[in-house]
Amino acid sequence: MKVESIFPRRQTRQIMVGQVPVGGGAPISVQSMTTTKTADVEGTLAQIYALAGAGADIVRCTCNEMEAAEGLAQIVPRSPVPIVADIHHQYKMALAALEAGVACLRLNPGNIRRPEHIKQVAKAALERSVPIRIGVNGGSLHPDLYKKYGDKVTPEAMVESALMELAYFEEVDFDLVKISVKASSVPLMIESYRQLSEQTDFPLHLGVTEAGPPPAGIVKSTAGIASLLIEGIGDTIRYSLTADPVEEVRAGRQLLEALGLRERKNVDLIACPSCGRAEIDVFEVANRAMEAFGDREIPLQVAVMGCVVNGPGEARDADLGIAAGNKRGHLFVKGQNAAVVPEDEMVETLVEWAEFIHEHGADKALERVDTERAKREAERDRSALLVSQGSDVNAAEVKIASMRSS
Ligand code: SF4
Repeated sequence: MKVESIFPRRQTRQIMVGQVPVGGGAPISVQSMTTTKTADVEGTLAQIYALAGAGADIVRCTCNEMEAAEGLAQIVPRSPVPIVADIHHQYKMALAALEAGVACLRLNPGNIRRPEHIKQVAKAALERSVPIRIGVNGGSLHPDLYKKYGDKVTPEAMVESALMELAYFEEVDFDLVKISVKASSVPLMIESYRQLSEQTDFPLHLGVTEAGPPPAGIVKSTAGIASLLIEGIGDTIRYSLTADPVEEVRAGRQLLEALGLRERKNVDLIACPSCGRAEIDVFEVANRAMEAFGDREIPLQVAVMGCVVNGPGEARDADLGIAAGNKRGHLFVKGQNAAVVPEDEMVETLVEWAEFIHEHGADKALERVDTERAKREAERDRSALLVSQGSDVNAAEVKIASMRSS
């Protein structure tokens, strides 16, 4: 399903990370990084498969020692997604990772400082048509640049670091480059990417580094990455969370789907925030539904609503939803009442209908049931609730009247 985004994207060059295009109008890819020792081949592959299953397009593994490079030689041919080798201090590890067959390298200019080493890596990568990410990181900026900009990490310093590295690559005619200028400060990261995007058309890899554990880490990453994507900046993203990397992938994909930048892959579960009218514990049912759907590839929007009084109307655009009323669950499909089930079967009903709709379509699903009857039942429970709770169950009108009279 092709998605048309309302945010025009900045034109960038395109590189290939294995089979995954990055930049040049390609879908924005989601990346993550393994947390295992790369030398632990089976453990690392298990994590790579989990990440790919959650929607990662590209996975990075550290390559910090020869055992890790040897691990990569075994991991790369068995990986379902392209593997990027993360290189920090030792340029020789970059050469070994290339030998191992990785699809991309990530170099940190603050940590590999000798131009001749950088050029040597670029030459070896060029021979194999393997791209390199110039991964500038606010926390490991080159000391000279740090000094030059008044003992501070500034957007200008970050951009200068990236452009300096780029110049070394250009000297050896290497242009298979993508760039990141990550920082843990969201404003610094946003401004660095903005300035960089003015000065280069290489694809950009976005991220807020060391964002921390969720939920704060997700909030920070989303603030930085989404702000830039809305401006059309960014070709590939990574959430850096102190959490299971599967969480990074889920967050990244959900952001792209929410912005209309990637097609929906899994269920988009929406739920009302609950209020005095709720007939069920909405939080509990919504969480149970989330768990039941898990990472199943059902690209539908599914609603869990606390009451049949307002729920079906408020979620009429969802593909499928259920609203509680009088100990029953009222199922609706594209705003049309479809079925009535006992309250304790709400979640399993949602899953079963979502699977059917995904496979056969909403019309076929509705053909199976008596929609007129479901509508009458819903109307009956709705009227009963309105009678028992009144039309102002949250007592807003009473409060407003009291405020006005005081
Ligand atoms: S009115 Fe009903 S659907 Fe709306 S928030 Fe309250 S319980 Fe949920």
